[in-house]
Amino acid sequence: MKKLILSAVFMIFGMAVLQAQTNTGPCGNGGGEWKEMIIERLLRNKQLLAEDPVQFRDVIYVPVRFHLVANSSGTGRVVFGRVLEQLCKLNEDYADFDMQFYIKGVNDNINNTAIYNAQYNAGLVMNQLKDPNALNIWIVDVAAPAAPSPGDEGVILGYYNPGRDWVVVRRDQVGASSVTLPHEVGHFFSLDHTHNGWDSTPWSSSIGNPAPLFSPGGVPTERQDGSNCENSGDFICDTPPDYNGFGFNGCNYNIAQDPAGVFINPDEQLFMSYFLNCTRNNYYFSPTQINLMMTDYNHSSRNYLRTGAVTPNLTEITEVPTLTFPINNETTPGYNIVNFQWTAVAGADFYLLEIDRVATFTLNPIRIIVAGANSRSVTTLEANRTYFWRVRPYSAYRTCALSTPVATFKTNSTVVATQEIEALNEWTVSPNPIISQGALQISLQAEKSFDGDFSLFNAAGQLVRSLGRHRVQSGATYLEFSMEGLSSGVYMLALSHEEGREIRRVVLAK
Ligand SMILES: [Zn+2]
Repeated sequence: MKKLILSAVFMIFGMAVLQAQTNTGPCGNGGGEWKEMIIERLLRNKQLLAEDPVQFRDVIYVPVRFHLVANSSGTGRVVFGRVLEQLCKLNEDYADFDMQFYIKGVNDNINNTAIYNAQYNAGLVMNQLKDPNALNIWIVDVAAPAAPSPGDEGVILGYYNPGRDWVVVRRDQVGASSVTLPHEVGHFFSLDHTHNGWDSTPWSSSIGNPAPLFSPGGVPTERQDGSNCENSGDFICDTPPDYNGFGFNGCNYNIAQDPAGVFINPDEQLFMSYFLNCTRNNYYFSPTQINLMMTDYNHSSRNYLRTGAVTPNLTEITEVPTLTFPINNETTPGYNIVNFQWTAVAGADFYLLEIDRVATFTLNPIRIIVAGANSRSVTTLEANRTYFWRVRPYSAYRTCALSTPVATFKTNSTVVATQEIEALNEWTVSPNPIISQGALQISLQAEKSFDGDFSLFNAAGQLVRSLGRHRVQSGATYLEFSMEGLSSGVYMLALSHEEGREIRRVVLAK
């Protein structure tokens, strides 16, 4: 019995896939059952909107779960900095109507070739990874809502799956210059294409002028004078007629006539059109499209987006972190563990730390999301290499800040102890920089008491002064070391213990 039910489910799913397969053009929502589902919701929202106009009050914050998918061997994942850039732009795109998006979470460890290039075959595993209380956005290599028909591979830039209720975007479409994500999020909130009916077969000279009363998709053809706008095209009256399913290059469409013989004048800069090459910053949603999206958000079927949603940290990030260690252009004390450090900046809850052998970060980059701290130990660097690094501050909502300028350093071949000292909670060195006549103040906070050896190394990793063995008490301990007699420059103060060694950078100024 169980088996029978299962195969029935698969049959229904299989049919949905077949119907969705009628897509051509840059977006995967060109036809089939999915289109009908979106239009059904659109018409429902239209009716609700007529009965109850949207009241704009506070800014809405929509939680987003990003799924950054690589193939099964772990390569090809979208660069996370581009996701930050994309979210920044999306919030700009939606800022006019106070709908904003924030990162609820990032799944950056999905290595699955089926999700990567054949989502139609991966719905079950994707469903397990789906966040039930967020807008789920999958970033993949090939956007494949259905098995591709020959010659169709790689045409689709993104799509919204209304059955699973998630958005899929091709990784090369992620970034500030693309209009794909704002378009797909428009579908997510029930909008259809402005060229509804012409999705698969756009108007062409072989269809001829004037256009027929019904588009090839069977939808009444919208007229330029607006007389039938409620019940034709995209069913929205403040978006003019549009017969361009796909294939028109340029941003000034003036080739097709409506059934009355009047040349239509589509608005090429609406996000829900297929005019992809207009000036990026001019794309927008019409007032009615905005109201319909808001109505969709307010509908009970979208309660899940509000459950657990928060107002994210709104502090703007205006400062640029200073990269403090490794010191620019210098050699680290060891290569097997390097403790990257930078200054914290207001508003940043996260930092994207990027390290690579080339300044473009394209060779074999290490990318680490550092949460709630402004340092991170990295143990995967090679000996005797030149590296480049930078840091990008962000928060769940503020993702527009740029990376720091790139700094560089060398590793040597010295092995330094790798473990952190477990009993030590925190220790700081001040003043820093210090003048040569001054005394270095060390402040330590320890879980339990221990004896530690303090020593000073130069930037090349050579021991220049032993400062002796000192007892670090449970709780707070303060120590003082004279810096007299040392020449100006950068030093590493090391605290060693049987468990490990920790290092602080000290700058001695004359
Ligand atoms: Zn679309």
